[in-house]
Amino acid sequence: MSDVNKTLCPYCGVGCGLDAVPAKGVDQWRISGDRQHPSSQGMVCVKGATVAESLGKDRLIYPHFRQHLDAEFERISWEQAYDLLTTKIRQTIQNLGVNGVCMYGSGQLQTEDYYVAQKLLKGCLGTNNFDTNSRLCMSSAVSAYKLSFGSDGPPCCYDDLDLTDCAFVIGTNTAECHPIIFNRLNKQIKQNAKAKLIVVDPRRTKTAEAATLHLAIEPGTDITLLNGIGYLLWQWGKIDHDFIKTATNNSESYLELLTHYPPEKVAEICGITPQELEAAAIYWAESNNVLSLWSMGLNQSSEGTAKICSLINLHLLTGQMSKPGAGPFSLTGQPNAMGGREAGGLANLLPGYRSVANDGDRRAVEQFWQIPAGRIADQPGLTAWEMILGLEQRQVGVFWVAATNPAVSLPDLNRVKAALRNSLFTVVQDAYYPTETAAFAHLLLPAAQWSEKTGTMTNSERRVTLCQQFRSPMGEAKADWEIFAEVGKRLGFTEQFTFQTAADVYQEFSQLTGDRLCDLSGLNHEILAEFGPQQWPFLTGAKPTTDSKRLYLDRQFSSSDNRALFQPFHSNGLAEPPDPDYPFILTTGRLYGHWHTQTRTGRIDKITKMHPQAFLEIHPRDADQLGITAEDFIEVISRRGTARLPAKITTAIRAGTVFVPMHWGALWGHATEANALTHPEACPFSGEPELKACAVKLSRFVPD
Ligand code: SF4
Repeated sequence: MSDVNKTLCPYCGVGCGLDAVPAKGVDQWRISGDRQHPSSQGMVCVKGATVAESLGKDRLIYPHFRQHLDAEFERISWEQAYDLLTTKIRQTIQNLGVNGVCMYGSGQLQTEDYYVAQKLLKGCLGTNNFDTNSRLCMSSAVSAYKLSFGSDGPPCCYDDLDLTDCAFVIGTNTAECHPIIFNRLNKQIKQNAKAKLIVVDPRRTKTAEAATLHLAIEPGTDITLLNGIGYLLWQWGKIDHDFIKTATNNSESYLELLTHYPPEKVAEICGITPQELEAAAIYWAESNNVLSLWSMGLNQSSEGTAKICSLINLHLLTGQMSKPGAGPFSLTGQPNAMGGREAGGLANLLPGYRSVANDGDRRAVEQFWQIPAGRIADQPGLTAWEMILGLEQRQVGVFWVAATNPAVSLPDLNRVKAALRNSLFTVVQDAYYPTETAAFAHLLLPAAQWSEKTGTMTNSERRVTLCQQFRSPMGEAKADWEIFAEVGKRLGFTEQFTFQTAADVYQEFSQLTGDRLCDLSGLNHEILAEFGPQQWPFLTGAKPTTDSKRLYLDRQFSSSDNRALFQPFHSNGLAEPPDPDYPFILTTGRLYGHWHTQTRTGRIDKITKMHPQAFLEIHPRDADQLGITAEDFIEVISRRGTARLPAKITTAIRAGTVFVPMHWGALWGHATEANALTHPEACPFSGEPELKACAVKLSRFVPD
């Protein structure tokens, strides 16, 4: 029998397949890329390659409890933990109503975990207060796909990276944040003399360094740029009349909007030259297959949905979609944000890309779950930020956090921490301790993690991979879905949670996706184990295949009349533009080696050596004006908080803009938290907060 364990990298949404092989020593594992995985073909970056090094460090392995936040945690049994939690849930429902119960989950959860949590919260309890950190990540992409195509669901696949002759990369530092995708794309660009790589980013990132054309726009001017490109394409007659006529609606409104975007005006607003703008439009116009890629630079914004719709508009205008090598392609932040969307893992969703606001969707799920009609609430639950407001108001009686670290990743962190301090009862379910959020917990539940539980994850190209368990959970840790199911049973829903294995959970979940765009009804753990990862749609009776699948090749979209919809938007600009008091724009982002809040990567020596500390990138002109040299610390102050960071003086950043990586929370160093500064204003469509830009002032800081 082979000693190779097939699994998936638990970090980003590229979804690289990994082989884990026992190595010399107790619980030592050699990790390499899985050459048979169709998405990654054996490639792996430093995060995936080193993931096993964090398995035994700082693990939470027993339940713990404390009465109040000033007390020490005491170890308790699972029996006591379940009693405490179910009692708190019952009391909360009695005192505050069912909407006093909230769960804040994560794109790190497996689909089985997500599904059982939806059934517990939305189906059995009757509250839609389940949201995840995908609210800070991909919810803008979800809402833009729905507005433009009638449903969530990225249309493209990774094979398109090999077929495009013009990659339009906006709001993503792909080389560092999705490195395996970037390697594949860069190879295609280099091998094809005519292929172009356009990168839109205020910073000269590693991605921008490889670009044919780098548009270093002013932060927050993306919509203006995209409409400006649309204007030129339209004026030049480089639009696809047949596609517009046969496959779209609302082109008249969009073309009217474009009249407001002549190139001189657009170039001035965006801080680029008219020639650079024209070059981007020429590359788009002259290419056979334009593939656009984006991630958090567009998503994490108070107008994230509008930015993405504006990008999709260009594809509809030019017919650059519904064919191989072309289309709008969101790069998912987390390993299973896609699976979470399939399972209904946001406060407005239900499994199978259904909506809580849709009567038919609610009825279908209620019948499937065999719960009384009307049990599922018809209003969206609290989003991530609304849960924080609920804690402030003491309208939340149980705040249950699973596999995420909001005390680092949410915006306006000082306010978030004060809200967490005000919480009546916070449960933190995690594989690691300490974390910044555990410092605010009353009850700690130890979760099994990657390698310790079996389940599925779906990557950015809609490919589902079975992640096999190959180690025992440490201590008394349990799979997240098992914890949710046990709580459900103890609350009286025994018939709804009879699952014995994760395979049972997936079997039930997949049946609920039949006839939906994300149809997985033919898929189960056995097929995935035998034939390897599979993309959806995977209908009942479908044959496993390694061939790539795309959506909408027939130009039949998911709207009621099967047409895509132009969604014209003007920009509102930054949620918080610079002014004389706060004259700089702060942007935030990620580094190659670290993942999110460092819960794993901060415990891996190779990565901490690679990125030993946070820093602030500043242009030499700005540094000069402030009297800052390369050895200095800089104090950064926004209207919400302060950070102190070593200066990194570089021309890679625009003058007037500064950059701070988002990975450092209170556990890894004082006053280096980027999110102490950021702005919580939310996108009206997606609820995605403005994590990417806010106004700050800077000064030289002299430590005592
Ligand atoms: Fe993991 Fe993403 Fe790196 Fe692949 S690119 S190994 S999925 S972190």
